[in-house]
Amino acid sequence: MNHKIGAHVSISGGYLKALERIIKIGGNCLQIFSTSPRGWNTPAVNEQSGKQFKIEAKKLNIDPIFFHASYLINLADEGKGGHLSKQVLIAELKAASFMGVKGSIVHLGSFKNDKSENKYKTLIRHIKEVLKDAPDDTLFMMENAGNNKIGQTLDEIAQIIKDVNNGRMRICLDTCHLFSAGYDLRTKELLEKFMNVFDAKIGLDKIEVWHLNDSRDPFSSFRDRHENIGGGSIGLDEFKLIMNHPKFKALPFIIETPGFDGNGPDKKNIDILKGLL
Ligand SMILES: [Zn+2]
Repeated sequence: MNHKIGAHVSISGGYLKALERIIKIGGNCLQIFSTSPRGWNTPAVNEQSGKQFKIEAKKLNIDPIFFHASYLINLADEGKGGHLSKQVLIAELKAASFMGVKGSIVHLGSFKNDKSENKYKTLIRHIKEVLKDAPDDTLFMMENAGNNKIGQTLDEIAQIIKDVNNGRMRICLDTCHLFSAGYDLRTKELLEKFMNVFDAKIGLDKIEVWHLNDSRDPFSSFRDRHENIGGGSIGLDEFKLIMNHPKFKALPFIIETPGFDGNGPDKKNIDILKGLL
């Protein structure tokens, strides 16, 4: 398989278990949490255990590997939450460097109905500080939002990328969130149109990774509940178009689907995607 297709899997039992899990469901790239995503934890990994993970992943040809940052992150928070968000991300990216993980995929947070100039400035300052204090071989990937959080429109993403102005600031595009936010990519014409706009505003070369998820909600719902591939309102055509597009086909595709048994991303979802190649 030339394509890079993988999933978000659990690290329960340790990082090495995640490698076993992704192999078992037929993936060749991977997304994991570095630690529990529901608290202000930092990853329990040192240089030695990190290197062991890197060696094992290489042996198994699992590449690339990404962290998905904690759900608590809010880099626009001017108070303690913003400071903690920054510290946790820096620690995570230090672990990423040991472990051969490319970097962290981050939901930037929320302006909470108050997009003041100060909050926006705080957001940009925090991202810059993370990039400055994290190892140079790690990436910061902002994920597009679909639920009225930061990064929902291409204009906002473009502004953030421009203001951060750092080559290590990259983008993860999630199909479910694009769909929720009113970006329809379900036909060849619509996808091309989207890509032209994206390229003009941001640059297609900023896209590092795709999250392929179907949507449980209707188009432009501003909700972002994921559904199994082909089981939601997006349908298979969009996934087929994206995965086979000459501009995208070399990128990694990661699923974060609920799973046909409800136990998270599974072989069946990955097999459906493979069937679209
Ligand atoms: Zn996602």
